[in-house]
Amino acid sequence: MRVFCASVATETNTFSPLRTDFSDFEQSFYAPPGEHPETPTLCSAVFPALRKRAARGEVELIEGTATWAEPGGLLSAPTWQRLRAEVLGQLKAALPLDAVVFGLHGAMIADGCVDCEGDLLEAAREIAGPDCRIGATFDPHSHLSEKRTRNADIVTVFKEFPHTDFVETGEACADLTLKAARGEITPVTSVFDVRMIDVLPTSLQPMRGFIDRLNALERSGEILSASVIHGFMAGDSPDLGAKIIVTTNDDKARGNRLARDLGMELFGFRGRAAPEFLPPVDALVRADKSPRSPVVIADVWDNPGGGVAGDSTILLQHVLDLGLKGVALGTIWDPMAVRLCFAAGEGAAFDLRFGGKTSAHAGQPIDARVRVTRLVENAVQSFGASVVPLGNSAAIRIGDLDIVLNTNRAQAFSPDLFTNLGIDLETKRILIVKSTNHFHGAFAPIAGEILYAAVEGPYPSDPRRTAYTRLKREIWPMVDNPHHEELA
Ligand SMILES: [Zn+2]
Repeated sequence: MRVFCASVATETNTFSPLRTDFSDFEQSFYAPPGEHPETPTLCSAVFPALRKRAARGEVELIEGTATWAEPGGLLSAPTWQRLRAEVLGQLKAALPLDAVVFGLHGAMIADGCVDCEGDLLEAAREIAGPDCRIGATFDPHSHLSEKRTRNADIVTVFKEFPHTDFVETGEACADLTLKAARGEITPVTSVFDVRMIDVLPTSLQPMRGFIDRLNALERSGEILSASVIHGFMAGDSPDLGAKIIVTTNDDKARGNRLARDLGMELFGFRGRAAPEFLPPVDALVRADKSPRSPVVIADVWDNPGGGVAGDSTILLQHVLDLGLKGVALGTIWDPMAVRLCFAAGEGAAFDLRFGGKTSAHAGQPIDARVRVTRLVENAVQSFGASVVPLGNSAAIRIGDLDIVLNTNRAQAFSPDLFTNLGIDLETKRILIVKSTNHFHGAFAPIAGEILYAAVEGPYPSDPRRTAYTRLKREIWPMVDNPHHEELA
């Protein structure tokens, strides 16, 4: 059985001042055919999953390109055309094929193409033909279009937020797509439009129990797969919002029923699934008084993982104004300041301006006498089994306040983003990280308490106030009851 795989992924914040081009893919992750590492990345876990099956002699695997850019602003038209042509050219050269498996994100929007993944899947279907089985993995923070489910036989989506199950999602997609290609199953997909956009972390109830039940449903064998698309509120897409996907073994009526029941249950969680988001000063004062240190504070909206710059200084300025002790903050994206730190050298003390450069919403740059405590070329942090590049990075100190400056935009995933830069977390009472919820998996075990600080500004965090131009469907919270039926 001949199988082709490829992975093209990023998440586009169409409201971000950033722009994304090919160099962003090169900087984050770009592996030409055959050069994918043994470890998976967030969106390319189908590669190691299929390699395992190729090594067992189950399939003949033809690998295409795998690439990922850190979430950012609108993708340039030439970059999308280049990536699309590259992967589709590889697919064409690999014909004839029994199966195609894509590792996608699902929230990529390019200048001139609103639904990149739908476009890619449609073109892949055209090339591979109606008898080829096509599978794709998505991030739940994506836009599910009809074009995608029409052209893919199998869709699997990370169930966890934080996305700690990306390896299992890739495995499930490979498994089901190959079963379908062997004729062992007849996958039929049902989709229900939940008509809402909200923040739905699965580390908390009610989402925790909901996801546990989806997993139990899959294990029961009643259905092949069930997934939740959360939607991505920073992307101006006509398909914005939450959707339920249920795949049955040729039982459309049952799939439709289940997708609707699960979808209306999810709709019932609106407005109460997210953790408490505190005003920034409240979060800092509460953390400072907490007896359970270290307190981890998430700067939830200045999250590079949501496509913003990650150079906001607003929380940091509050830390300085309040004179808080025992604080570490990671990371602030500032390649220019990192360059100056490398020129100054480890141990140097000098006047540095850093942060607050990319947009008017990110606060003012900080001007301070800093000491460079550690310089690391091509620094990394871990995210589960994957390694996330931070680029050249500098740890700087102002008094006893430690700050990590980095060159590759990256959200905070793991405490090793501090320790790899020589920052001793034992002495810290407050750790400030730029991430909405992905930090949770690795930080929770060391955290005395976790607080979420909502600094308004860099991210379109209130959909009621965001100027969507492509959204034509009614969704909550813009419309109270978009289903127009009596609600339980
Ligand atoms: Zn996501």
